[in-house]
Amino acid sequence: MQQAGCQLGGYMANVTSKYSKRLDVLPPYLFAHIDALKAEKEARGVDIIDLGVGDPDCPTPPHIVRSLVQAAHKSSNHQYPSSEGMLSYREAVSEWYAKKHVALDPTNEVLTLIGSKEGIAHLPLAFVNRGDNVLVPDPAYPVYKIATILADGKPIGMPLSAENGFLPDIDKAVTDAKLLFINYPNNPTAAVADDAFFRTVVDYARDNDVIVCHDAAYLELTFDGYAAPSFLSVPGAMDVGIEINSLSKTYNMTGWRIGFAVGNAEVIAGLREVKSNLDSGAFQAVQEAGIAAMTGPQDTVDALRKLYAERRDALVDGLRNIGWSVEKPKATFYVWVPVPDGSPSLEFSLKLLDVGIVATPGIGFGEHGEGYVRFALTVPVSTIEEAVIRLEEVV
Ligand SMILES: *Cc1c(COP(=O)(O)O)cnc(C)c1O
Repeated sequence: MQQAGCQLGGYMANVTSKYSKRLDVLPPYLFAHIDALKAEKEARGVDIIDLGVGDPDCPTPPHIVRSLVQAAHKSSNHQYPSSEGMLSYREAVSEWYAKKHVALDPTNEVLTLIGSKEGIAHLPLAFVNRGDNVLVPDPAYPVYKIATILADGKPIGMPLSAENGFLPDIDKAVTDAKLLFINYPNNPTAAVADDAFFRTVVDYARDNDVIVCHDAAYLELTFDGYAAPSFLSVPGAMDVGIEINSLSKTYNMTGWRIGFAVGNAEVIAGLREVKSNLDSGAFQAVQEAGIAAMTGPQDTVDALRKLYAERRDALVDGLRNIGWSVEKPKATFYVWVPVPDGSPSLEFSLKLLDVGIVATPGIGFGEHGEGYVRFALTVPVSTIEEAVIRLEEVV
């Protein structure tokens, strides 16, 4: 790390002992461990089928890429963007939401995000004081818990289990929380929520004065004619919280870092205040490409739904044929599978690695993820079929 001519070497010798308590209490990053084992296998020439990471394998649709190229040539896009995002982008979001879900005021109920992870990670900084309770599902996308810890809040797990359809039991949640995270269609369980569940959440939030953040990253990736409801479509939701959404999964744009938060104007204002002090917004050319995604032809989204449904069928039907018991998900690009031989999920995923398959052990999403393994449908059907042949060897 030391640069030529830099005299700081001795002074900073003991950097690791200077890590903040915040960093010290972060849970170990299990996925990095699995990545390292995968790289080791690949180096030894093992042909790996990666069903681990939730990152779409298909490219961004070409009309969106073309829009970025054009927008990148405009010098007006070369300067700092505004931290809340271009009004034209926020208008495109509100039109897109109005068509499917709810009407939103683009001036104060929509905020551009540099990917939804950014918004989720910054939200606790706007509302959480040291020691405040934050309700997070378990298992879950790790960012809710980590962002809470980084804001010195106290994450309180809400267990998700097959018995309750992977919906948290809101009646059992502590009532003195600042913030509540939920996520449907859900990663990693692929469960979906109905209006009735969202109404329970709104009642709880109103009765106990808790802010709700619904992560809707998979709202559009639904199958068999099922359409997932927006949290904001439930009466009263706009009074208690926000929804965070992203172009990452809907338009294969994970690398572009573009998303948005929508909902309660005061919650949006809090998040905007944090962002205006910490980042300077999303590259405007990327926002223009986002407008092209949301206002352009939506047949690519239909094609994507069809593609993931075919892959889901190949995996679920294949696993059932070899005797595994698996639910067929209505949404997301994940299949959440009970470990068939009852071994701990980490141990089981290491066995899978021995036959060249990467899958994510449920324990990596929280203690209540134990007993499950998550497969991502980010490879072609033919590769999934090969994976099923290998999986038959494992058990
Ligand atoms: C992929 C994913 C996101 C999207 O993250 P971006 O930062 O928008 O790319 C958000 N939440 C969940 C649960 C996800 O799986």
